[in-house]
Amino acid sequence: MKSVFLGIILMFAGLNVGMAAEKGAAVDVARGGPNGGRVMDLLDSHFELLIRKDRRVQIIALTKELKPSQFTGQSIGVVAGDRRNPTKLELVKEADKLVSRNALPEGSGYTVSVSVRAAAGGKAVYDRFNLNLAKCPDCAFLEYACVCAHGKEAQRE
Ligand SMILES: [Zn+2]
Repeated sequence: MKSVFLGIILMFAGLNVGMAAEKGAAVDVARGGPNGGRVMDLLDSHFELLIRKDRRVQIIALTKELKPSQFTGQSIGVVAGDRRNPTKLELVKEADKLVSRNALPEGSGYTVSVSVRAAAGGKAVYDRFNLNLAKCPDCAFLEYACVCAHGKEAQRE
């Protein structure tokens, strides 16, 4: 609704709003990750989890405004797939990013679980989501990173 309203305002202003605003993406993008990944709000901090084309996972810290930032000593883990036999991703620090040395298992539809601890050994909080790499029909993101009401789950709070 908000995005429709914005579109109308922009049209009134005589600007070329383009496809994005008409589809409602212009507003949603403000809440999305800078690289198109999933925004996670954990421990009063913000992170972006991006699944790269090679299916490796990349995690960066974000500011409140969701701009790239730096980690502050958090300990982060990612496991994926069958709960009885999950694949643990080995995250390696590359500059300000954590990048997994191994790739996500083939396919999709399985659970990815991200744990964040304020420091090594601390209590973990989790972000769990279903791996869905399809394009969301309603916003500019893939389903796992979707920022619109479509497909919004309780786990994104
Ligand atoms: Zn969406």
